[in-house]
Amino acid sequence: MITSDIIEIKGTLPGPTVAIFAGVHGNEMAGVLALEEMLPNVNITKGTIFIAFANPPAIEAGVRMVNKNLNRCFYKGNSGTSPEDIRARELMAILDQCDALLDLHMFYDDDGEPFVICEDNALEIAKTFDIGIISTNWTEVEPGATDGYMYQNRKIGICIECGPISKAEEHKDVALKTIKQFLQYFGMIDVAVNPSTEPKRVIKAESVVYKSDETFKLKPGFKNFQKLQDGTVIATSNTKNHIAKKGHCIIFPHYNAHVGEEACILGTEVAL
Ligand SMILES: [Zn+2]
Repeated sequence: MITSDIIEIKGTLPGPTVAIFAGVHGNEMAGVLALEEMLPNVNITKGTIFIAFANPPAIEAGVRMVNKNLNRCFYKGNSGTSPEDIRARELMAILDQCDALLDLHMFYDDDGEPFVICEDNALEIAKTFDIGIISTNWTEVEPGATDGYMYQNRKIGICIECGPISKAEEHKDVALKTIKQFLQYFGMIDVAVNPSTEPKRVIKAESVVYKSDETFKLKPGFKNFQKLQDGTVIATSNTKNHIAKKGHCIIFPHYNAHVGEEACILGTEVAL
């Protein structure tokens, strides 16, 4: 039961100000469950945390979005009149007080592994999380997201894709552990959580492939973040075939995309 949708928690000593968001998309519940579990016992030694249940009407209804995608509304000069634009402006006013953001999401692919989205300025922090894949360059590829808003203001913005939407309860612990590792990085909690020592794959998102027309077909069987061989046929249509180049990875293959929607994103694997 959410009684307040933005909660401010202060430590006794001065320190960084950070935000933790959940429920920007209302059906991505791992972060919401994690924050509900954590909230009664949060104890920080220094600084300030703003915890936000970002999109209460969508969380309440259990849907991704009510009118429009809240995670495309975070940009300076947003003067939109929809409830999501108005809410984004409230949340941007919080983010403007913060040094860093951790935003907790989930995805549709039932077999997918958790991953991190951030830019190069947050790689040091992202490496301390027990999540094996880090994907960068989304500020450019999909503007208007919370993490990109922070990056454009020269701050740390990190989005965690905690796991499949259908398995929220099982992936609540991914959210909880990452929150602890995030707060520990900033020295805001006493609890010792081990930073990750596992190697990471870093995949830079580069371009969006749209379903151009009814003849467009994405080749079956792709998995999220799968490495493609040079020359792999990604998709075909009457007008254009999409062929992978050396080093390409496929991100978010979306087999049910409608004409005009994103069918997948192409990225390349880069050294950490
Ligand atoms: Zn999301």
